[in-house]
Amino acid sequence: MAFKTIEDIDVNGKCVLMRVDFNVPMSPSNTVADSFRIKQALPSIRSVIARGGRLVLMSHLGRPDGSGYVSKFSLKPIATELASLLGDSAPDGVFFPSEDCIDAQAAEAVASLKDGQIVLLENLRFHVGEMEDDATFASKLAAYGDIYCNDAFGACHRAHASVYGTPMGMQEDPRVAGLLVSEEIRYLREALNAPEHPFVAVIGGAKVSHKIGALKNLIGKVDSLLVGGAMAYTIMQVMGTNIGSSLVEHDKLSQAEEIIHLVDSSSTDLVLPIDHVCGRELSHESPVMVSQGEVPNGWMGLDIGPATTARFTDVVRHAKKVVWNGPLGAFETPPFDVGTRQLAVAMASCTESGGITVVGGGDTAAAVELAGVSSRMSHVSTGGGASLKLLEGGDLIGLQPLEQA
Ligand code: AMP
Repeated sequence: MAFKTIEDIDVNGKCVLMRVDFNVPMSPSNTVADSFRIKQALPSIRSVIARGGRLVLMSHLGRPDGSGYVSKFSLKPIATELASLLGDSAPDGVFFPSEDCIDAQAAEAVASLKDGQIVLLENLRFHVGEMEDDATFASKLAAYGDIYCNDAFGACHRAHASVYGTPMGMQEDPRVAGLLVSEEIRYLREALNAPEHPFVAVIGGAKVSHKIGALKNLIGKVDSLLVGGAMAYTIMQVMGTNIGSSLVEHDKLSQAEEIIHLVDSSSTDLVLPIDHVCGRELSHESPVMVSQGEVPNGWMGLDIGPATTARFTDVVRHAKKVVWNGPLGAFETPPFDVGTRQLAVAMASCTESGGITVVGGGDTAAAVELAGVSSRMSHVSTGGGASLKLLEGGDLIGLQPLEQA
């Protein structure tokens, strides 16, 4: 299922209302700390202004409570960053009209836009109506555009006004996907539906309960399922392996059991850690040791060990397609970052040998960036929750209002 994209329609002289995901990490001095998501939206933005369209951009940033303006969540620094990234392709810069995305000043700025110009509205989440998909709020946004475009992959799993109610209210207007959304869908959904083999999934992170849907959907589809991170310890606990004081979800052991049963009756090979980098506590000052098989009492498994890393990276290097979601250790706290970094490098080798490598958003994207190999992946998703939803085989509510190609 492919969607009509912004490139499929004539935007000349029209006002395009585009939902983007500018929810980026900010520095303590309130400047953009990582512009990855902004850069990923540039192709759609450039496509509209180069073809003589007017552009109204809308996004959220952080999690304000919806009761009004909060300076630390303002999108103003993002308007500055966007203007600098666009450079000559946006000669008039980026207008940032007001502290409220639906006040009279914002409406006036949109009404007086000229073809080829851009307005960025203030944070949508300053209105509770955004999160509650309030009809009045959604229709005020809808009134801004002749065309609706969703290029906010990271927000597509949320039934928020700008993602759902607004385009649903624009039934008479073209409603299309942006180029980023279209690419994310192509890699994450279509790749799962028509995989090449060996097809490998690497799943890590803290909690088996967060990834249970993805694990269930992948079992039977992938040839190898490599599980690391703290979530492996909940599975190992069920298998009767001593895991010391590693993180375990004691109330989710039945979910881990379900995974083991599903794997047993499938063609998927479940690969769990065979050794562990252990610490006394999660701290870079902790004593560290490598343990084979089990994690001894008094120790926590905080990263996959060297033998596991060798095994995981070997499987990944020889794969035709790899999907990775979740770090394999507490990668934010060296020395427990080594397994995750080495996996990232193996993914890069896989891409360079002709494989397709897809990295889920959030922590995994951050880990790949930390390892300096982001540009060597086939695709790094901008959306943690949305990419997980697709790995679960689920639908994204934000795609429902869009037109099929
Ligand atoms: P998730 O959001 O479920 O993908 O979990 C990501 C978090 O899991 C990261 O903050 C990692 O530091 C953490 N994590 C991964 N492996 C471990 C581990 N073995 N022990 C403690 N935390 C871990």
